[in-house]
Amino acid sequence: MTSIPNIALNNGVAIPQLGFGVFQIKPDETAEAVTEALRIGYRHIDTAQMYQNEKQVGQAIARSGLDPSEIFVTSKLNNNRQSFDDALRAFDQSLVDLGLDRLDLFLIHWPLATIRDYTEAWRALERVYSEGRTRAIGVSNFQPHHIRKLRAETEVPPAVNQIEVHPYLVQDELCAFNAEHEIATEAWSPIAQGLVLDDPAILELADRHDRTPAQVVLRWHIQLGNIVFPKSSNPKRMQENFEIFDFELSDTDLGMISGLDRNERTGPDPDVFDSVPS
Ligand code: NDP
Repeated sequence: MTSIPNIALNNGVAIPQLGFGVFQIKPDETAEAVTEALRIGYRHIDTAQMYQNEKQVGQAIARSGLDPSEIFVTSKLNNNRQSFDDALRAFDQSLVDLGLDRLDLFLIHWPLATIRDYTEAWRALERVYSEGRTRAIGVSNFQPHHIRKLRAETEVPPAVNQIEVHPYLVQDELCAFNAEHEIATEAWSPIAQGLVLDDPAILELADRHDRTPAQVVLRWHIQLGNIVFPKSSNPKRMQENFEIFDFELSDTDLGMISGLDRNERTGPDPDVFDSVPS
């Protein structure tokens, strides 16, 4: 079976560089999708309280016959749970829903433009981390100014920053900022939800390497050092996305893909997004 490389986080915890994302998989389809992903060999699942499918992720893990310690599980704090006590309660609920004794990684999902004070939520994450109930904590959709504030006002540095990255939104500066602060970059929407797959440059590279466009783009992420978890509900595409460790892009190929940058987001801008579900 393909062996997935690990990335060492800043606290020494190892995270598989390729995982499986479950955003927009309907709750009643999630257990089946995660079961298939685990069968293929994925050992890293990225979910969130907001996705409302943690229970079904947990069901698939429980049914898999694998020891939970063999699967790296990430969840994220929902936007309406950022007060200290609420964040602790929400974390407890994630463990219950996932059927786990501890998480591998727990993130603040969004910094939220109107609330602005995610440090309280971060203190709750520090608490569960210090209790050993999650092996690492991190952030998502944080800009450098958000991270600077966290570093100035709190104790534990984030292990990861999960941000939108793909060939149309390369985010060189933010990735370099993360690296400079020993924060691993996790790239969400790694294939821009399919948007980049028809790009002529990607098609040309796919043809030259005898690979699919998605494989070429995911390989670009891997060689840049990004952690990725493409979502697919289709077993064939799940398998395709898994088979990216037996070919190599050249520096010229990597530059060609990075050169497609248009600073184009598929999702919200973290500096203005402030959706707080009730
Ligand atoms: P992706 O870039 O992973 O793209 C998913 C889309 O691409 C789906 O429509 C899927 O369709 C299609 N697709 C997948 N594989 C292939 C393939 N090989 N060929 C052609 N089409 C393909 O987008 P996501 O937004 O889902 O991002 C991935 C993960 O990142 C999420 O699941 C979530 O875990 C995380 N995320 C985090 C966010 C955050 O704010 N922290 C925000 C958004 C995502 P199909 O299912 O039919 O195959």
